[in-house]
Amino acid sequence: MALAYVAGTVACDRSGPPDKAPGVSWGLAAQRAARVSELRYEVNLVIPGSIDERIRGHGTLRFDLSDASQPLVIDFHEPRESVLSVRSDSAPVDFDIVNDHIVIPVEVLSPGSNAIEIDFWAGDGSLNRNRDFLYTLFVPDRARFALPCFDQPNLKARFSLSLDVPANWQAVANGGLESYETGGGRAVFRFGETSPISTYLFSFVAGDFDVVTGERGGREIRMYHRETDSIKVARNVERVFDLHSTALDWLEEYTGIEYPFGKFDFVLIPAFQYSGMEHPGAILYRSSALLLDESATQSDELRRASLIAHETAHMWFGDLVTMDWFNDVWMKEVFANFMAAKIVNPSFPDLNHELRFLLAHYPAAYEVDRTAGANPIRQQLDNLNEAGTLYGAIIYQKAPIVMKHLESLMGESDMRDGLREYLRTYQYANATWPELIEILNARTEDDLATWSRVWVDEARRPTISVTKELDDRGNIASLRVRQADPEQRGRVWNQRLTVVLAYPHRLELLPVWLGSQTTELAQAKHLPAPDFILSNGKGMGYGLFEFDQASLDYLLENAPTLPDALTRGIVWLNLWEAMLEGRITGEAIVDLAAASLSFETEELMVEHVLGYLRMAYWRYLAENQRLAMSERLESLLWALLQGAPSASLKASYFGAFRAIALSESAVARLREIWSRELEIEGLSLGERDYTRIAQELAIREVAGWEGILERQQEAITNPDRKDRFAFVKPALSADQTVRDSFFLSLRSPSNREHEPWVLEAVEYLHHPLRATESEKYILPSLELLEEIQTTGDIFFPKRWLDATLDGHNSESAAAVVRQFLADHPDYPPRLRNKILQSSDALFRSSESSGSGQLGSSR
Ligand SMILES: [Zn+2]
Repeated sequence: MALAYVAGTVACDRSGPPDKAPGVSWGLAAQRAARVSELRYEVNLVIPGSIDERIRGHGTLRFDLSDASQPLVIDFHEPRESVLSVRSDSAPVDFDIVNDHIVIPVEVLSPGSNAIEIDFWAGDGSLNRNRDFLYTLFVPDRARFALPCFDQPNLKARFSLSLDVPANWQAVANGGLESYETGGGRAVFRFGETSPISTYLFSFVAGDFDVVTGERGGREIRMYHRETDSIKVARNVERVFDLHSTALDWLEEYTGIEYPFGKFDFVLIPAFQYSGMEHPGAILYRSSALLLDESATQSDELRRASLIAHETAHMWFGDLVTMDWFNDVWMKEVFANFMAAKIVNPSFPDLNHELRFLLAHYPAAYEVDRTAGANPIRQQLDNLNEAGTLYGAIIYQKAPIVMKHLESLMGESDMRDGLREYLRTYQYANATWPELIEILNARTEDDLATWSRVWVDEARRPTISVTKELDDRGNIASLRVRQADPEQRGRVWNQRLTVVLAYPHRLELLPVWLGSQTTELAQAKHLPAPDFILSNGKGMGYGLFEFDQASLDYLLENAPTLPDALTRGIVWLNLWEAMLEGRITGEAIVDLAAASLSFETEELMVEHVLGYLRMAYWRYLAENQRLAMSERLESLLWALLQGAPSASLKASYFGAFRAIALSESAVARLREIWSRELEIEGLSLGERDYTRIAQELAIREVAGWEGILERQQEAITNPDRKDRFAFVKPALSADQTVRDSFFLSLRSPSNREHEPWVLEAVEYLHHPLRATESEKYILPSLELLEEIQTTGDIFFPKRWLDATLDGHNSESAAAVVRQFLADHPDYPPRLRNKILQSSDALFRSSESSGSGQLGSSR
């Protein structure tokens, strides 16, 4: 791209001709934000009953223009034929189409108020059209795929929408319903004008939906859904209303601002691309994330509560105050997650929330931040058409940790007051991270701008180690905490740590402010030598925390029986890192996981350890090790499953059993469960469980696997899930030619439209049991990545890579990725980083396994 605009660093020419490059460049956006104000859209769409017919649209853009001396660029990512007419004051306009833009000439523009009317065929690219429903998903810059608009977050507008749809359809949008008329087999929904919102938040859904209305504290809430299992809906719906209501009340109290968008509805979409999207007044959710199965675990419940709190928090953080440009998209995500954690806690009083925060954030953040492709929280963005590449674990998981550090620097009430001021100052408008830091800085002694530089503007994490020296009586003579920059640039990650010295019957907690590369802990002097030292005690610290050898040896023996669950969680995090660093083997981790499960009583830890067990089992064991261990692990999980005190724990153990089952007897057991010959007492399995079992049986190529898949497909009653199953099926086939042609079909973007289906299928294609045969898909999958970034939704490129690479651990698979990177030195840097992030575990596992004994070849 010829452009060199960089948000915030290079000034653009605001009076010159507009930038008509494809996408929405920062220069174009900055110029338009300076010229356009008082923006309103009136949008009318006629949606045919058939998916094969196009959607006809009429839009009026009303706005004030401060400078009419240059043409005005409207974004519309559709070919010229889709623009049927452009008028100003009822007179036709001689417009131009350049790249993704409709260019309005100066002759029809005037300083002050303007109105441009456009008749168009709506693009389907962001309308997610299905047989009998459709929904918009415009984030980050896809409103312009459907309709003409100024597609940038800082040109907030009031939207008036009318939808003309088949008479039996429902419709929901950001604004409240103002009128509804039917006639001639059609229905027209007119929605009231919205408050000022960004284009990426403009949304509507239409189609065959059921509606359930709830009332909480005088507020009416509507849930739209397509779930055919009425028992499932009934089991979940009250809880789902409660969770929304709790979140709304909490946020009104915390922010001091009433819910800002009038009515409150939400829509459950089958196989939605994300778990949720915060359209004001009409949140969209993935249906399965809210309507839980009977076998849902405590973690599922928690995930659902957190998701609802997250999307609801966005109504203030993101929707009411919005980032100025998508380089700060992390701000809305961090506050949504940060608030969600605060909101969810009171609803789960029995839960260990510190442990939950630790497990929900640190492992995922480290998964990116330990890699050579790590990105900083705040990134540069030249054009909105690259905004999708900004998303990932650094935004969703690291940023909340950093925000917690900030809150601990400032204190909870000063932080809350600062956020209230920020929301009041910028409501219905936009703000940057430096603008927030300025507000917060006024409330603290610390220099937050400097603090922000290493934590927010830089990638990676420090390596933190402790060295102890003993005196001649065996007591501590000196104890030092050191932090090292993995890139040897001398950076210092200022943070508060609690160093724990563990003794047989007590813990010594030593708080320390890590403000330089080496910090001496004077308070440790003369203390006896401990069993082990944990430098990230309490779990707040962020970095690669290395155990000294004595601590490592002690914990490999004793970690399962440590009395405190949070300490066990932290120890497990560090031990996993120790395995990745090659200090302990995958076999040791599997053994330790097995030992831990026999003792573990904390449900969160059980799930987490089961996760480590599965990862290590498939990825960090050689095949012969895996075969040697499988029967023992299967028996252990089966016994734990029988003895587990709760249905959710049983579900966790069963999930792990199903995932690792390899021996003939374990696979036979799965088959008996699938055919209802064997029941597990206290665990009721739903349709999705049986689907999963059928798929796992097929991957293991049990006799009659084809019949099993056929019968499972017939057994699925819900049409959306039936379609999904049929889509994934060829990826499970034992016949390599069927899998090959399925993989080939993914080259066509139309076959990648249902992204969750695609990811499920690709994961099966690359299942560890088929790694040898699927290695040949790696290179073409990498070659497809650039195209996938332009056609797919924001999380898809990284997830595509993960689904492709996660099943592999061979040196030859790692070599394919290395060679691809070497062959493409000029590859787009952010995508290159995604590849480095997704392949880090492959690189490590292919090295750690060593000696060629590892791999999935049979
Ligand atoms: Zn979010």
